[in-house]
Amino acid sequence: MEIVFETDGPERTMEIAEDIAKDLKSGSVITLDGDLGAGKTVFSKGLAKGLGVKEIVDSPTFTVLKIYESGRLPLYHFDVYRIGDADEMYDIGFEEYLYGDGVSLIEWAGLIEDLIPENAIRINIKRNDEKGPLFRRMVITK
Ligand code: ADP
Ligand code: MG
Repeated sequence: MEIVFETDGPERTMEIAEDIAKDLKSGSVITLDGDLGAGKTVFSKGLAKGLGVKEIVDSPTFTVLKIYESGRLPLYHFDVYRIGDADEMYDIGFEEYLYGDGVSLIEWAGLIEDLIPENAIRINIKRNDEKGPLFRRMVITK
């Protein structure tokens, strides 16, 4: 199934993510792909808000993983941009999280494609410059 959203700014992107968060279950995996600045982290903030996460959510680019436990479900927020290969993911215990109790959200998941489970919800975000600098097109596949 494929769902397409047009968003006209970061606030709308966050609202969409908040709605998606309502349907997530223990063990859900969501992947985020799209260029630098597409809005993956903005989406992540919205998803965290929708799960009821109280902490400030920012990009885990330098740490690869940030864990938030204050919401309805634990949130494992990955940014794998700096990951060189699958071994590094196993080193940080990727699988334990992916098949754990929380929701895994993975920015730049395309870089570790082989490690992504079949049942993941795939989200691709693209700038939509024809419409304007704040527009994005999000394609959700599940
Ligand atoms: P990424 O994580 O994909 O590299 P970020 O989420 O960190 O990107 O940054 C997206 C940037 O684009 C932010 O500065 C945000 O304010 C801006 N932006 C503009 N329009 C949108 C939109 N419709 N959705 C999400 N972000 C947007
Ligand atoms: Mg990001």
